[in-house]
Order: sequence, then structure tokens, then C-alpha cells
Amino acid sequence: MTKEPHIGKLPPQYTFTLNPYTDARFTRCPGCDQKTRQRKLPLFIHVDPLNPVVLNYTCRYCPGCDLLIVHQDELEAQLVALFEERDPSVIGNDYLVLGTVERKAWRESMKQTKSIPEMLEHLHIFKEVRTVEYRPAGWYPADEPETQERQAEKTPAQKKRPKRRKRRRSKHR
Ligand SMILES: [Zn+2]
Repeated sequence: MTKEPHIGKLPPQYTFTLNPYTDARFTRCPGCDQKTRQRKLPLFIHVDPLNPVVLNYTCRYCPGCDLLIVHQDELEAQLVALFEERDPSVIGNDYLVLGTVERKAWRESMKQTKSIPEMLEHLHIFKEVRTVEYRPAGWYPADEPETQERQAEKTPAQKKRPKRRKRRRSKHR
């Protein structure tokens, strides 16, 4: 048996996008602007070097575009929590969300561990993987695109507070 298992014998499903923006939750679809729904799906994730996992994760989903959106920060928080128990040395490794696993197979795997080839039998890889572009409105300097992500991580609490009347002495005269 030297034949490698085909990845995903089932038909591909969903157009997938991983959302890197912590301040965008895509309650509306970035493609068609319709309201997105929630869809909880077992995601098949390959984590380097050889640690495939299945995470039951609540995605945003646009039925019109068949677009599945996963928030990177949420997903990584769940991966960290999972690998803290299993194998902390894996935390921070590269990973790739490959597709979704049939719910029935996922449920069964909760009761009785399935091997990777067995899980792959029930994998729908994604039809297409897209990146999403989003420019948060507002309060970061518009001329510094490189710092966008950093800025996006800051909270609005760091905005300037309203000026106070009370004057403070300047330290440098
Ligand atoms: Zn859409």
C-alpha cells in the first residue's frame, strides 16, 4: 500500500476566506453586502509539521456567495487552547485550513478516535480560497498602510480623550 490517500474524496465545498482583521467581523458579506449567517462546521486544519486537527467552529457564511469566513484570531485562540493540552510545542506553527469534515464523521470521531486517512475520507476540501481585503474606517493615519494591522489591534480606548480644562505645567520649557 504505497498509494497516498487522496485529499478529500468528497466534492469540494465552500469558498473559504480567513479573516486577518481583528476589528472586522463580517456580519455583512464582503462580496455582496448581504447579511451573513452563522454556520458551525467541523474544520479540518493541517498544523505543521504533522498535526491535523478538526475544530468545530462557528463560521460566518454568505449563502449567496457560498462564502465561508473564519476569523483568524478566534481560530488561533482555539488552536492554542487545543494544543496547550495536546502538544504545546506545536503552538505558533504554520497551519492551513483545508476544508470541512462531514458532521456525522466528526461526531463519531468524538466518541471513537479516527485515523487521519479515515478522517480524510470525510473531508470536503474548499472549492476556492480567497483573501479578504478590508480597510477599517476611521482613526488610524491613512498614510501608513504598513501599520494598518498594528493599528487595528489597538482599541478605540487609545483615542484621544476630550481635552480637560485643567492645565498642566509643561515639563520642557
Ligand atoms: Zn455574499
